[in-house]
Amino acid sequence: MHNHRSAWNQCLQIIQNQVDEKSFKTWFEPIVPLSLHGQQLTIEIPSQYFYEWLEEHFVKELQFALQTVIGPKARLEYSIVVDQGDRNNRPLHMTLPNQGNGTPAPIKQENGAFKEGYPNLKPVPQHIQQMNGNGADSGIKTGKSAFFHRLEKDRIFDESNLIPSYSFDNFVEGDCNRLARSAGLAVAFKPGITSFNPLMLYGGVGLGKTHLMHAIGNKIRELDSQRKVIYISSEKFTNQFIESLTKNAANDFTEHYMHMDVLIIDDVQFLAGKEKTQEIFFHIFNHLQQAGKQIILSSDCSPKDLKGMHDRLISRFKWGLTADLQQPDFETRMAIIQKKMQNDGVNMPIEVVEYLAINIDTNIRELEGALISLIAQSSLNKQEFDLTLAKKILENIVHNIEKEVDIDKIQRSVSAYFSVSIHDLKDKTRKKEVATARQVAMYFAKEYTDYSLKQIGQYFGGRDHSTVIHAVQCVHNLIDTDNSFKRTVDDLKKQLQTN
Ligand code: ADP
Ligand code: MG
Repeated sequence: MHNHRSAWNQCLQIIQNQVDEKSFKTWFEPIVPLSLHGQQLTIEIPSQYFYEWLEEHFVKELQFALQTVIGPKARLEYSIVVDQGDRNNRPLHMTLPNQGNGTPAPIKQENGAFKEGYPNLKPVPQHIQQMNGNGADSGIKTGKSAFFHRLEKDRIFDESNLIPSYSFDNFVEGDCNRLARSAGLAVAFKPGITSFNPLMLYGGVGLGKTHLMHAIGNKIRELDSQRKVIYISSEKFTNQFIESLTKNAANDFTEHYMHMDVLIIDDVQFLAGKEKTQEIFFHIFNHLQQAGKQIILSSDCSPKDLKGMHDRLISRFKWGLTADLQQPDFETRMAIIQKKMQNDGVNMPIEVVEYLAINIDTNIRELEGALISLIAQSSLNKQEFDLTLAKKILENIVHNIEKEVDIDKIQRSVSAYFSVSIHDLKDKTRKKEVATARQVAMYFAKEYTDYSLKQIGQYFGGRDHSTVIHAVQCVHNLIDTDNSFKRTVDDLKKQLQTN
């Protein structure tokens, strides 16, 4: 029985006879055998480049040696040192299978030693040859395998995925996005050449990250239609990777992305906790960056706040430029609505535009949603775009915003309305005005926040949950029976929504 070292030593002796001395020294001496499991030998090689070179030039020699020493079903696996690591991080390895598995071994004619070929080698069935590629049609540099083409045909890897309607022209500039937009433009004009590589865009939902990334991709393609640009969400990237693993085509997956000129990955926060995908992504990232290709990423928070992500990946994210997108200010919101109206050929009175811009300040997606509802309602019911319609439409959206009211705000508003101090709201006093105000405040806390009854009790001087239930019931009863009380509650509701 062999162990990995003795097996590899014997392989080396065979290989030494087949390749010239210089190649042997350069490409084979640095290899370290790592393990032998059954007929699978794993060897450590120093870099991706090494892997590509071996696969391109010596795959047949390797295979022949392996099959001679280990057996006809010998398999080779490379463990590539992707990152040397440092004091705090272990070196990062990545394993890749040898691509030429099952291909007939070469016959080294010159020295006559293997003239008869390899006797134990069974012919490889056609479909397996196609799936794995063979010596001449495999590896990173030697072209895509038949299986890859099938994947492509199946549209697992489709085109650039760019949405043409997301452009710079319809991306409104404001203080909130100026840096991200101008960095995006710089990258679009000189992909891979500026120091903004990677360009990392981050910010909350609906603030324009996806739009901007597509705009960059579209611009690059507009300036040079030959560039290979791909946009993909990190979720889809993960799913493709998993699928490629199940189909034994992980190399095809890597190769596909390594051939891109511009790689755009949206919402990288979803890679959190996905170790293997992060590993392969890290590898692709390094390859592209070394080759001067552009990488554009987005995430919902700054790189330093990304959780569940390998430190090395996060440090790569910070290499280029990180630019955040913030909530748009009032003027930008006005400009965005006007731009959208212009694009859709819609005309709206200025006070309606203002009403929307004042009331929806969360994000641009919400703003767009409101605008679309407004346009739909007005055309369905043949109604004018007026304030009444706008208010009606906004009711639903405002309801969502209500959820964001916090207990402090409720206590402030209620104490001001009833002229009782916040201290009293939290205190033990049972004075009638205070007790009513306290109950109303608890009612709003229950209706408009996601706090539990117990948590609400805590906010009101550590009362227990049954006190909160009682308060909520009392207020409901009063709303049903006392009109002036109902008006009070409605007034307060409006205040909470608008302030
Ligand atoms: P994110 O990816 O940050 O969640 P999106 O890019 O999906 O946000 O943007 C949400 C919507 O808002 C999209 O329809 C987009 O076109 C629009 N949008 C965002 N920012 C702008 C902007 N600056 N100008 C015009 N439209 C914008
Ligand atoms: Mg997005």
